[in-house]
Amino acid sequence: MTKVSEKALWFKQLSGNKPLIIAGPCSAEIPDQVLEIAHGVKDQATIYRAGIWKPRTRPGGFEGVGAIGLKWLQQVKAETGMLLATEVATAEHVELALAHDIDVLWIGARTTVNPFAVQEIADALKGTDKIVFIKNPVNPDLSLWIGGFERLQNSGIEKLGFIHRGFSSYEKIKYRNKPEWQIPIDLQIRFPEIPLINDPSHITGNRELIQQVAQKALDLNFDGLMIETHCTPDLAWSDAAQQVTPNKLQEILSNLVLRDSLNLEDSYLHEMSMFRTRIDEIDTQILKLLKDRMQIADEIGLLKKAKNVAVLQPERWQEVLIKMRREGKENKLGEAFITSLFKAIHDESITRQDHIINRK
Ligand code: PEP
Ligand code: MN
Repeated sequence: MTKVSEKALWFKQLSGNKPLIIAGPCSAEIPDQVLEIAHGVKDQATIYRAGIWKPRTRPGGFEGVGAIGLKWLQQVKAETGMLLATEVATAEHVELALAHDIDVLWIGARTTVNPFAVQEIADALKGTDKIVFIKNPVNPDLSLWIGGFERLQNSGIEKLGFIHRGFSSYEKIKYRNKPEWQIPIDLQIRFPEIPLINDPSHITGNRELIQQVAQKALDLNFDGLMIETHCTPDLAWSDAAQQVTPNKLQEILSNLVLRDSLNLEDSYLHEMSMFRTRIDEIDTQILKLLKDRMQIADEIGLLKKAKNVAVLQPERWQEVLIKMRREGKENKLGEAFITSLFKAIHDESITRQDHIINRK
């Protein structure tokens, strides 16, 4: 069965209704490295990526080879026919990229956060028909991501796409950048025709985890993958831990299971609607239970007010959390899920009690 896709025509023509694959090194380092990787990925990827200007979080790292690398990329196109992609962060980058036949420009996560920078790039791109991808901002802010997209759209750029690369987090987590899947899902619902690409390299920061994140993205109907690839990943000048060899890229891609975004068989539709009805009923019960729980929290708020007791009782909250994690485990519910669920419930109780206590 073919994938039912509402995507923009330019994208369907580019990807041929298969996931669009963008591969290549985090950074262009030397001409031979750029060309060798390109020959390694040319049968698997439609677009060749290489960072020429590298935004580094801390100074002192490799900041990219600069404009000279654009000439190496032109050589890639001449030898392999792949489309070329690089990151741009200023109007000057855009002008240089355009002058060197770069086909796809992407705006990096550290640039999307800055409306001035995005506007400068959008202005510099006016009148071109380049493909432009906008990565999510480093912080989990959907409006900022959409705002960047709208600035590009207002400049008349028609071939636009999103790249989801995860979000910074102060918490210690297994990924370099937290996926927060709900954010790209919300984006897809709002902009069904705009292609959404996943970047499992920057999400995981770890080549061992790329396969599973790439599969999850396809299961969520993402339209393509951007995977950092290097012939000697451990020796890469940036993002060494997350790059894969061209052989590994091939293995990852061939292990991916492509699923239909819709399946229209009768029996499937019937079964699905029964499951969904049950889910809807359970959701309604959850809401009712939450309402009852909040009413009790309000009563406690009134009691605390009468007795002049502080809203937050840290020991009680710790007890609740420990108990629920233990019970969650017995019921095979993940600890991270239980923790965030009860944090949200507890936050709401505290907010309501605070309101009650401070009410005149
Ligand atoms: C990159 O693609 O190499 C890069 C710097 O990405 P991000 O903007 O997602 O950090
Ligand atoms: Mn990188």
